[in-house]
Amino acid sequence: MKIPKTLFFKTQFDADKQGHFGEFGGRYVPEMLIPALDELNAAYEEAKHDSVFIQQVLDLYKHYIGRPSALYFAERLTAKLGGAKIYLKNEGLNHTGAHKINHCVGQALLAQRMNKKRLIAETGAGQHGVATATVAAKFGFACTVHMGEVDMERQAPNVQLMKQLGAEVIPVKEGNRTLKDAVTSAIQDWMGDPEDAYYLLGSALGPHPYPTMVRDFQSIIGMEIAEQLQEREGVGVLPNYLVACVGGGSNAIGMFNAFLDVPEVQLIGVEAGGTDIYTPGQHATRLASTPQLGVVEGYKSYFLQDEHGNVEATHSISAGLDYAGIGPQHAYLHSVGRVRYESASDNEALNAVKTTSHLEGIIPALESAHAIAYVMRLAPTLVPDEIVVVNVSGRGDKDQHILKQYL
Ligand SMILES: *Cc1c(COP(=O)(O)O)cnc(C)c1O
Repeated sequence: MKIPKTLFFKTQFDADKQGHFGEFGGRYVPEMLIPALDELNAAYEEAKHDSVFIQQVLDLYKHYIGRPSALYFAERLTAKLGGAKIYLKNEGLNHTGAHKINHCVGQALLAQRMNKKRLIAETGAGQHGVATATVAAKFGFACTVHMGEVDMERQAPNVQLMKQLGAEVIPVKEGNRTLKDAVTSAIQDWMGDPEDAYYLLGSALGPHPYPTMVRDFQSIIGMEIAEQLQEREGVGVLPNYLVACVGGGSNAIGMFNAFLDVPEVQLIGVEAGGTDIYTPGQHATRLASTPQLGVVEGYKSYFLQDEHGNVEATHSISAGLDYAGIGPQHAYLHSVGRVRYESASDNEALNAVKTTSHLEGIIPALESAHAIAYVMRLAPTLVPDEIVVVNVSGRGDKDQHILKQYL
């Protein structure tokens, strides 16, 4: 395979100029938001061709985030499962402990270039809020994080972190006072201040150009894997399988993108199976169950919906995968069969955390543990000269209060 030389490469599975991945994606937003999205798209198109901008991104990846993240051969896990060789791409080693910082750094640099003064974000569990507050501090932006009152209570430590980083956390008191209401509140905030505010999205979803832009900033993950694997296994060696968990889809598409045009590499996204994938409200498998097309939060994709088209409640033990929608490029990659989507349950994820901690001294985030859980099923069916790379999207420090209850 040819390893891409820049983050901003194209594949045969890319969007058209309006951000359509096949029938998915696009822009379904109030008229008022179109100028702001046009401005963002123009700035992004210009920046990604500017060598100064590209160098700024790469410098911060190296010196602020600490990239490249390690590609680690999990020798004891491999031996225990008794099949393919397992490598862990350890995004948990990044500054702030997960892959989210990659697209936050990229977007903050873009906001700076656009002369914005303030970053706006919504957050559910608080991980995206903390990553946004981090880059706001680093770049000297004001930062407003919208968060449902219920979530603020449940995720008090992350609220504390955001405040410590200098962000203002706005308690959202409407509706169920959770993520959906926080999104509405954040968009209102943006519509009221399009001149000075930059809306920083936390996954590869939302209206065009966010899915493409977030993916591009995350593509570094797969580019590094391609190079690191050749160093470890020899020139020209390809992984047989790449496996990543899929919430909105940013860490998975970041891992897959550099390999999309390499058909020998099998790509697997793992969704949250929760407690029961057959009962609505008990899981978050948008693709591994029966996909339902819809338009929600500005983009067309598959969403978990009831028979009236209302977005359904979801459940996962991991906050990052507990979401009813999925980024439009994943919907497309599913529809054309380039990526396979599987699920892992809450219990399997807990077991994967335990196993990886005990055998490798690496405590993965509960989200990432879903990908590892699937690999624990897959690897024993493969032969020892096959190679599986699993993306450890984050480290498990943030999950200690949950793990304490179960393990
Ligand atoms: C937020 C998060 C996820 C899910 O988000 P994606 O956009 O699907 O990557 C996965 N893992 C970790 C550690 C997270 O913090």
